[in-house]
Amino acid sequence: MPVADYKIYCEMLERARKGRYAYPAINVTSLTTANAVLKGLAGSKSDGIIQVSTGGGAFASGSSVKDMALGAISIAEHVHRAAERYPIYIALHTDHCQADKLDKLVIPLVEETERRRAAGRPNLFNSHMFDGSALPLKENLDIAVTLLERFQKNDLILEIEAGVVGGEEDGVTGEAGAKLYTTPEDTLEVARRLNAISGARYLLAATFGNVHGVYKPGAVKLRPAVLKECQDAVIGRFGQSAQFDLVFHGGSGSELHEIHEALDYGVVKMNLDTDTQYAFTRPIAGHMFSHYDGVLKVDGEVGDKKAYDPRTWMALGEAAMAERVKRAVSELRGTGTTLFK
Ligand SMILES: [Zn+2]
Repeated sequence: MPVADYKIYCEMLERARKGRYAYPAINVTSLTTANAVLKGLAGSKSDGIIQVSTGGGAFASGSSVKDMALGAISIAEHVHRAAERYPIYIALHTDHCQADKLDKLVIPLVEETERRRAAGRPNLFNSHMFDGSALPLKENLDIAVTLLERFQKNDLILEIEAGVVGGEEDGVTGEAGAKLYTTPEDTLEVARRLNAISGARYLLAATFGNVHGVYKPGAVKLRPAVLKECQDAVIGRFGQSAQFDLVFHGGSGSELHEIHEALDYGVVKMNLDTDTQYAFTRPIAGHMFSHYDGVLKVDGEVGDKKAYDPRTWMALGEAAMAERVKRAVSELRGTGTTLFK
């Protein structure tokens, strides 16, 4: 199927919230990793989200160009074409974009979508994240409001973050401390500002101790109950329809019961990067170690072309990453839930 349109994406999110499941949103940086996600989702009969980060976009554009918007567009164009061969729906999203990078990623991509719409073509992306978590909440929401007004006119969904995801991703390190846990007061302010824009739709990355990257057991203290406190507060103040569609960042390495508790409180999108990075690289490492005299020219020998052809080992990475995507879908209770008929 082609990439989901706005109506289908909204329906995907509704169904997930009502059915207490979530979509994996997997970071990709290349055609091969995008194909791995398509393969894994199709193998699970689940819809899902492919996302590109600022660094991923820059990487995909090539090391001498390093244009994050160009790389994101290239990946999205590929997904639009390739997704037609799979019996599932895909949504395209861009990940963390801090205020100082909006002009390099989100704004050029919104402009691209506006050009496409003006020409009668479908949107390029379905949603974009603005990460203003390093700013005071008022500044964060001032920018979010401006973006959401423009997004609403273009059938785009905005993801914002209140609180801070700890750890390091794409060279950006989240500050530790109390902001690792979003407060009900913060989320009431989010709802007050953003729900005022009629017809607009957004996702909220509320933080409950999440950390990017992966750590040894016990190092990360997740408190999913924080999400319930935020939902209860917003429903109490603004009614049931104000319930948030939540996003779980920094989910790599989480315990299954923590994931399920978060789904019960309204998480509909869970980001995965670190775990799928490892899944991709693991069999490649195995291949290199077990075929070292094929991938290398040892002792005056010529190596083995079949062993060092990048297709050989990238196919191993693709297959293993697809399996990891299937596992994520299963853990997120999404197996067999595709809306595609
Ligand atoms: Zn994140």
